[in-house]
Amino acid sequence: MTATRVLQPADLDAAVEILQAHGPEAALLAGGVTWMLRQARGEDVPSVLISLEGIDTLAGVVVHDDRLTIGAMTRLIDLERSSAVAAMAPGLAEMIAHVGSVRIRSQATIGGNLAAGVPRYDPPPMLMALDTRLRLLGPAGTRELALADWSPHDSRGSGVEILVAVEIPTLPPRAAVRYRSLDDVLGVDVVHAAAAVRIGLDGDGAISDGRLVVADALVGPRRCTPAEQGLIGRHPVAETAADVAALVAAGDAPGADRGLVAIATRRALVAAFADLVSQPGIASSGSR
Ligand SMILES: Cc1cc2nc3c(=O)[nH]c(=O)nc-3n(C[C@H](O)[C@H](O)[C@H](O)COP(=O)(O)OP(=O)(O)OC[C@H]3O[C@@H](n4cnc5c(N)ncnc54)[C@H](O)[C@@H]3O)c2cc1C
Repeated sequence: MTATRVLQPADLDAAVEILQAHGPEAALLAGGVTWMLRQARGEDVPSVLISLEGIDTLAGVVVHDDRLTIGAMTRLIDLERSSAVAAMAPGLAEMIAHVGSVRIRSQATIGGNLAAGVPRYDPPPMLMALDTRLRLLGPAGTRELALADWSPHDSRGSGVEILVAVEIPTLPPRAAVRYRSLDDVLGVDVVHAAAAVRIGLDGDGAISDGRLVVADALVGPRRCTPAEQGLIGRHPVAETAADVAALVAAGDAPGADRGLVAIATRRALVAAFADLVSQPGIASSGSR
């Protein structure tokens, strides 16, 4: 294994320049969890790691009227403890609090988690259900795009972009998001099924906005549109959760185990419905 040099650019422009100069032999270093794991397993690590640690503008949560801006270098533990995140979406804070252990969350960053592009990581489905957008910086300048349209492994070497910030639209009143996952290890197989739901109600208490993003160990987050359509016009009750989970189980989306994904879907819906009926002015009655 070659020795790894860690470079410490002072700002983002310098980081882009260094990435350009080193091409495919260099990669970005955020919390470093992925690289530590690779080293521990005896796998190859790039000969140059460009640390984003010292770039202050990359960390922190900023509240705007219409969105939260989360810097890519914000540690997961800081998101878990952020009052702004908890106030906007308790389901988002709850999901973050279940990533790995306290030790992992103290080191891992939101940018590193998303950029790793691992199908079974927890934040991507939830952030996709929230219609999150990303701000990226590369040799061609800054661009914004939906998380759903981003493939972190699209570009390597000199074309690689730095994820700068994650923009999460503010959740409107009478809306809730929740995430549920099932994880197990069977022999050498990792079993993982996850669902993130975003539900919005109209003035009559019926579902007018439904977003359902599912993932499993093999296939990363994707929307489940027929099941989303099955939510519209229904009321946030157990029967709706069961019917929509059945649509997921019967669907033809690619993935390892639709049955497990359906269980995660039903659990996420039940949790989101409980959030909604606990909000002032929303009744728990009605079964359609
Ligand atoms: C024991 C253990 C348990 C875990 N459990 C969970 C879990 O339950 N749920 C879960 O979701 N994850 C889990 N993880 C994974 C962990 O969350 C990720 O490894 C971590 O989030 C990576 O973040 P990092 O900041 O350490 O990134 P790094 O390891 O530094 O980087 C990860 C990748 O992203 C690239 N990168 C980093 N930052 C940027 C950026 N700003 N722009 C572009 N590219 C960038 C790097 O070049 C690298 O390719 C676990 C990991 C371990 C070791």
